[in-house]
Order: sequence, then structure tokens, then C-alpha cells
Amino acid sequence: MKCPQCNEAEVERRRENRQYKESGLPNVLLINIEVCHCPKCGADLVSLPRLSGLHRVIALELIKKPALLRFRMTRAGWRRDDAA
Ligand SMILES: [Zn+2]
Repeated sequence: MKCPQCNEAEVERRRENRQYKESGLPNVLLINIEVCHCPKCGADLVSLPRLSGLHRVIALELIKKPALLRFRMTRAGWRRDDAA
């Protein structure tokens, strides 16, 4: 896939852990999500499937208010990740 930002280089697909800053919450970490990185312009494109499902589990876990929330995408959808 060509980088949609500069349209000059092929993006590299990686699996990374990312802080989900777009949620507006400082303590949400997404585990092993697909990130497309452009080696040319440095663009980082994060693909987040089933976003509404993610927001639902974040809301549910927020009620319990742990220090750091980690979420992992599974076949069934997003779920809380408890692995240290
Ligand atoms: Zn680019």
C-alpha cells in the first residue's frame, strides 16, 4: 500500500503497542495493533477496527478506574488485556 500522505513510498506494516491518545484518556494502551509506517515522510497510520466496540469496553473498564488500561483486538472484538 502506498503512503496516503506523501504517495511516494510503500508503507511498512508493523504490530505495535500504542497509547490511544485519540480517546482523550492518558492511560489507555492498545496492544499489538496494526500500524502502517511510511519510511519516506514518517507518517504513522493506525488502523483501529471495531472502534465502537473499543469505546464500549473502555467505558466499562473506566468505571473500575485502574491505573492503566490495556486493550487487545481479538477475533470477537476488543477486550481488556490483563497480561503484565
Ligand atoms: Zn509518506
